[in-house]
Amino acid sequence: MSGYLAAVIILTTLVLYCIYRCTKSNKEIAGTVRIVLTVLLIPVAANAVIATVDNRTVIYIAYIFYLIGTNLILGALIRYSLQYCDYDYPVAERIAYLVILADCISVCLNPVFGHVYELEQKSLNGDSIYYTLDSGWYHYVHLGLSFIIIMGLIAIFTTRMHRSSKLYMERYLVIGLVFVFDVIWEFISVFTKSRYNMSMLGFMGCGILIYFFSVRYHMFLITHQMFNKVFENFSNAAFFYDDKYNCLYMNPTSCKILDIKKGDLEKPKNFMLGFLKEYNVSGREEFFKRQVFVREDGEHVFWAEYKPVYDKRGIFLGAFVIMQDRTEEEKKIAEERYLATHDELTGLLSMNAFYDVAEERLKMAAPDTEYLMMASNIREFKLINDVFGRDAGDRLLKKIASLITELAGPDQAYARIAADKFVLLLPKKEFNEENVLARSREVLFLEENPEYPVVNHIGIYEITDRNIPIPSMVDRARMAISSIKNNLVQRVAWYEDEMRSSILWEQKVTGSLDEAMSSGQIVPYLQAQVDVNGKVEGAEVLVRWQHPEEGLMAPGRFIDILEQNGRIANLDVFMWEETCKILKKWKELGRDDLYLSVNISPKDFYFLDIYETFRGLVDKYDVEPKNLRLEITESIMMTDIEMKLQVIDKLRKDGFIVEMDDFGSGYSSLNLLKDMPVDILKIDMVFLRKTRDTERARIILQQIIKMAQKLIIPVITEGVETEEQVGFLTDMGCEMFQGYYFAKPISLEEFEKKNNVA
Ligand code: C2E
Ligand code: MG
Ligand code: MG
Repeated sequence: MSGYLAAVIILTTLVLYCIYRCTKSNKEIAGTVRIVLTVLLIPVAANAVIATVDNRTVIYIAYIFYLIGTNLILGALIRYSLQYCDYDYPVAERIAYLVILADCISVCLNPVFGHVYELEQKSLNGDSIYYTLDSGWYHYVHLGLSFIIIMGLIAIFTTRMHRSSKLYMERYLVIGLVFVFDVIWEFISVFTKSRYNMSMLGFMGCGILIYFFSVRYHMFLITHQMFNKVFENFSNAAFFYDDKYNCLYMNPTSCKILDIKKGDLEKPKNFMLGFLKEYNVSGREEFFKRQVFVREDGEHVFWAEYKPVYDKRGIFLGAFVIMQDRTEEEKKIAEERYLATHDELTGLLSMNAFYDVAEERLKMAAPDTEYLMMASNIREFKLINDVFGRDAGDRLLKKIASLITELAGPDQAYARIAADKFVLLLPKKEFNEENVLARSREVLFLEENPEYPVVNHIGIYEITDRNIPIPSMVDRARMAISSIKNNLVQRVAWYEDEMRSSILWEQKVTGSLDEAMSSGQIVPYLQAQVDVNGKVEGAEVLVRWQHPEEGLMAPGRFIDILEQNGRIANLDVFMWEETCKILKKWKELGRDDLYLSVNISPKDFYFLDIYETFRGLVDKYDVEPKNLRLEITESIMMTDIEMKLQVIDKLRKDGFIVEMDDFGSGYSSLNLLKDMPVDILKIDMVFLRKTRDTERARIILQQIIKMAQKLIIPVITEGVETEEQVGFLTDMGCEMFQGYYFAKPISLEEFEKKNNVA
């Protein structure tokens, strides 16, 4: 008795626990399982009463509850089985419920008919009385019905089993077997006619098993199969380890990576242990590493992710490692990075990469090491490209690149930052100017034309302040190059602080010229030219820039700059046109007795067709060519003499008067005079300046004037500032004067006012 009771108590507790767990589960089937388990408690409770109470009536009623309870279990099992197997037979299900209901009613009528059972009183050892069930005919009907229903349920599971994949069969097989087990158990307990109802134990056992397999059980087999499929086709390597780093599993990719034969689990274990040791990690925490393997087919890069696995209590269970082959990606990234940081043609660093590297170098360099920022620039590289072709230009650039590499050595930072512009950061002590120039002369020539003088200018900024941004250092080195300008001999220039402001000024002048011309900032000033009697015959037109910030600027501040970059031609054409407008106005006012003389820069001959320009202007404004005097300087005769002589001839033939400006200030004024067909000589003011030997200057001046008289060329002397000067110049035979003594350059309005040009 006590053994039986203990079994009932334990199983009941377990059933109660299962009911509780069902309420926590979110599986759909758990609700039905809970009903099965709950109704299971009705016959269990009834049975407990039967086993413990000795009152006949109570036991009689308990049996009714017991039998109805078993019916309810059957009803719940029908619902459960259909739901578990995903079947839906509503008619059959309802019929079954009706049959069960009828059976319950029949059981309830037993007190009237006694067709189900009677109680039989028995005594144990003659003193303790107990009751056993004396089955009536209907009891067998009831058992038969139960048996049929259970068999029906077994049939449901059997068909379901046949219809499902092998992998899912276990799911139905297990529950089917539970039912078979229950039937057998039931038979045994009914026919052994033991004093205690054993079938209850069977019911509860089955209930617990149903709970377990329906709610708790995981389909490990299927999970395992799926998992295998995933990892077999996984492009990454996967290794699973137990807590002692024995390899539990590795996928085919792993075998390939580590060059391991399938089944050799020793190698991955050693690999893992070596891995943990190499990176000095405990293996108890996750980590991520970049791993390089050198295999027969080359170097491979992997990203390895290590993850330890713990149970709920935090006990280390093992670990898994996923390794991703990143070789191709890294190669691509490296290539892209190379392209982004290197110049394709020369293979040197590109501009931004140079800035970074140079900054890094200077940061790392010892503070007392002196550094130079050097820049180089090929003179007229565009011309080389145009004349000899791009390939020739490219070959030259490559030569410069290898020359820099050779001279600087592999450890320095150097780059090509633009077309023909190279930069180099070099410790000062490693720079040897003679050597650099000598090697440049040897190497830098054009195969197409070895005679062509390739000139590579080098600008150097000695880094005195390392905090200046690298681009500014490069700018300074390049400013030094600009200072070489047209010097044909100089190859190397060192940056000086003044260069900075002068270059900035140059940029400002060049950049604002167009706006200055269009907005009326560029204005003609007129300086009178007078005869011996002081009568104004005409004037020289001198440019002035009425600058909004700088005030009134004389040409000395900007003419040189514009001459160097060729913009002078724009300014001159503008000035000539302004002059023609004045002449036109004067003509209309009846003052075409006055002439104006304009300055022509030697550079104008490069950029303009001088003859056509002047011809066009006098035609356009309908002015007399003789009223437009043209001042040229002897320096125009340095190159293309023939062409320029022709231009001058043509202009003179058309009636323009050509003056030789600044005569006597150049190198070969006298020599030039021999060939130059000019109408007037403008003697430079140097002869009037205070010199160590004023007498000598005067003798020369006198001889020039005499010579001019012999050549029958009239003379104007510039820079006349005193009455005395006027006196001796007149005595010498000078017929025209220009200078502050008579008038300073003044605005058009003032000039017109002063000279009564109405
Ligand atoms: P330049 O053609 O020899 O002009 C004469 C310069 O001598 C003018 O200087 C004038 O102001 C200055 N001057 C005249 N009389 C005296 C004097 O008595 N004492 C002193 N100390 N100086 C005197 P400015 O206007 O500064 O022009 C300088 C130079 O700029 C000109 O020399 C000319 O070569 C150039 N220039 C002026 N305007 C133009 C222009 O429109 N186009 C071009 N290409 N050059 C121009
Ligand atoms: Mg002049
Ligand atoms: Mg002059």
